[in-house]
Amino acid sequence: YDSYAASVALAGATRRTVPLTRSGNGFVLDVDALRAAVTDRTRMLVVNSPHNPTGTVYDREALTALAELACERELLVLSDEVYEHLVFDGRTHIPLASLPGMAERTITVSSAAKTFNVTGWKIGWAMGPRELIDGVRAAKQFMTFVGGAPFQPAVAHALTHEQEWIASMRADLERKRTFLSHALSEAGLKVFGSTGTYFVCADLTPLGRTDAVAFCRELPGRVGVAAVPVSVFVDDTASWNHLVRFAFCKRDEVLTEAVARLNGLQEAR
Ligand SMILES: *Cc1c(COP(=O)(O)O)cnc(C)c1O
Repeated sequence: YDSYAASVALAGATRRTVPLTRSGNGFVLDVDALRAAVTDRTRMLVVNSPHNPTGTVYDREALTALAELACERELLVLSDEVYEHLVFDGRTHIPLASLPGMAERTITVSSAAKTFNVTGWKIGWAMGPRELIDGVRAAKQFMTFVGGAPFQPAVAHALTHEQEWIASMRADLERKRTFLSHALSEAGLKVFGSTGTYFVCADLTPLGRTDAVAFCRELPGRVGVAAVPVSVFVDDTASWNHLVRFAFCKRDEVLTEAVARLNGLQEAR
């Protein structure tokens, strides 16, 4: 996620990234590559599942392998689970901290933004053992001190009383995921499977395009649709620059209109 690089730099740490790898119609965590990237100087793993931008949800096997590595190398883990409720096709979210040996080394962060469709409110929370949370609070104290106080009672209310609303939003998003994925492939893109978040990634190569940065810059002007090139999330931009991230957290009529306009692209070609 794009803010990690800045946070790691602010902490004075050195960032090493391990790309996901392609598998079937989607992406998977490359546990061997992760293992190979860990050195004696490694202190913390930063993990994000469900994953922005790919919509990948790590399965229990991958999370278990990751947990074993963290325990073996005595690493701290920062688990960004802001999309914990947005998992589809009957999947259940597996909190990394729930795996053996992980509770004492994991800080789990989540947020109201994606769960309650209130991006911009910037109300989140961090959970973990006391000594790790003490560190989080010390940093927070001198950065923003408090997260938008007037929003906090609303988020507390939602967490306590609005679980059914979350379920209905999840069902809506799952339907929108299926709609947009299908429509993008009809429009000629190669679409990857999204099993969580509200993003779906697609490969532009079948449209005869390989530069997603250029494509995404043109798109608003050409058809009034905005998308994000996956390369902005990665270090190795060349390997990922044929992929585009689309968001499906939009009203049905907006999605329908966007799809009609994207179809126009193929005809214009
Ligand atoms: C949106 C997002 C966040 C930030 O959540 P806020 O509540 O807006 O700060 C963190 N991580 C990921 C992966 C996100 O997509």
